[in-house]
Amino acid sequence: MTELLANHVAGRWQHGTGPGTELRDPVLGTALVRVDATGLNLPEAFAFAREQGGAALRAATYRERAAMLGAVAKVLQAHRDSYYDIATANSGTVKTDSAVDIDGGIFTLGQYAKWGDALGDVRVLRDGDAVRLGKEPVFQSQHLQVPRPGVALCINAFNFPAWGLWEKAAPALLSGMPVIVKPGTSTAWLTQRMVQDVVNAGVLPAGALSIIAGSSAGLMDALQPFDVVSFTGSAETAGVVRAHPAVAQRSVRANIEADSLNAALLMADAAPGSAAFDLLVREVVREMTVKSGQKCTAIRRILVPSTLYAAVAEAVSAQLASVVVGNPRNPEVRMGSLVSRAQFDGVQAGIAALAAHTDVLHDGRTCPLVDADPAVAACVGPVLLGARDADRASIVHDVEVFGPVATLLPYNDLPHALAVAQRGQGSLVTSLYGADEKALAQAAIALAASNGRVHVVTPAVATAHTGHGNVMPMSLHGGPGRAGGGAELGGLRALDFYHQRSAVQASPEVLAALGC
Ligand code: NAP
Repeated sequence: MTELLANHVAGRWQHGTGPGTELRDPVLGTALVRVDATGLNLPEAFAFAREQGGAALRAATYRERAAMLGAVAKVLQAHRDSYYDIATANSGTVKTDSAVDIDGGIFTLGQYAKWGDALGDVRVLRDGDAVRLGKEPVFQSQHLQVPRPGVALCINAFNFPAWGLWEKAAPALLSGMPVIVKPGTSTAWLTQRMVQDVVNAGVLPAGALSIIAGSSAGLMDALQPFDVVSFTGSAETAGVVRAHPAVAQRSVRANIEADSLNAALLMADAAPGSAAFDLLVREVVREMTVKSGQKCTAIRRILVPSTLYAAVAEAVSAQLASVVVGNPRNPEVRMGSLVSRAQFDGVQAGIAALAAHTDVLHDGRTCPLVDADPAVAACVGPVLLGARDADRASIVHDVEVFGPVATLLPYNDLPHALAVAQRGQGSLVTSLYGADEKALAQAAIALAASNGRVHVVTPAVATAHTGHGNVMPMSLHGGPGRAGGGAELGGLRALDFYHQRSAVQASPEVLAALGC
């Protein structure tokens, strides 16, 4: 029997009472550990976090809580190697892909530690200046931001067990809200180990950080009006969260990060051989292959001028052909596996569905795997599809295949390209490639309403840009419509979700005594 990982709730480590769900190595197929949340006393767990963890966090100032985040980052740094081992075993990722998750999470924590320190030794944030409510300035309104006196339930997807935890927990803890994390089951080991290391190091107050690994049953039922739920996952599960009485009736604040059909758009001035053309090709190949395409921000649709369709198809296919796929322990391998055999089946079915309406321009599934048994490993070579008529290929604007798959689409002119991009009905990110700054700026404004982020790549930023799919804590993460309508990160903007805005109407003397 494999080890059963413990949950940490109500200030103590507790095992589930059921047999548990086995977590597997997606390359070798071997069993690793088990998780189980059966029998946990959820009302007790949530009450402990709210009452003990919340009270201790709110007693600290923003600067003191920022110091806690700094201490958490140090603990994680000290155990970094063991996280890479877990990622290789449980996520099947090569080292550079594990880094996106592990180091991305630690970096995000460090940023919030720095930004939080600058907020100073206060417990309440002033939101704008006081404004007079009448002719004379004797009675005024001052908006405040105060920590919500509840718990932050963070439900995460399987693809970012490390970053997914910390990109939510850092702003929540800095805001003074305790966190209960529920990781995606198939890769829960890394989240559990990180929480274990941090809890055991004693750098956070009791109740500030809890983990429930296993079934989500009952979690939403435990939420009360001042709690928040921050969800990342599929559009389907997002619908269940949104419709739950906690959200629909008790007004529990919900942030939803769901799937997204992101696009890359090559501007008309980018001829083959131009720097912008090469930058698009490089970024498309990178986005299709990093983490085997299991990134919510990955490029799914590649929009190019119709005259360049064949040239882009050829250039992207040529680079994809050199991607070595297989066991991430082999140093020659550039792309590891999907996280599970279930995902493998889902991606194969998704490719078949898209391929019924598109042409297969490159099929990496025909290349042999390195050091991996194709009957066991969840490895899928990259697949480039193409649709000659971008308007009629409805399925590519509707179906997210969560793997190394993208579709090339030709456009006639820029208005047509923008309209095709917007067929995604709200995306996390669209990237633009060109050299005409004015045209790029206009296109960025046109896309801003339907994208959480617009990433513009010109030759001048060839080596400086941070990557289409990389989520930087300085920038907003989240998109309207289909992308879930959520808003995470964006520097200190992330704190809004975990605070309550309130307007205090009083004399200037009372407002001066607020202490913020
Ligand atoms: P998922 O199946 O929707 O699961 C997401 C999380 O919700 C998991 O922790 C899951 O637990 C939990 N869950 C399942 N049913 C639930 C319920 N009834 N109530 C509450 N929680 C429930 O998604 P996934 O397959 O893990 O992740 C892949 C998807 O996430 C992709 O579509 C991807 O685009 C999206 N994603 C979006 C972002 C973003 O920031 N926008 C980031 C990463 C991924 P179990 O694992 O135990 O089922």
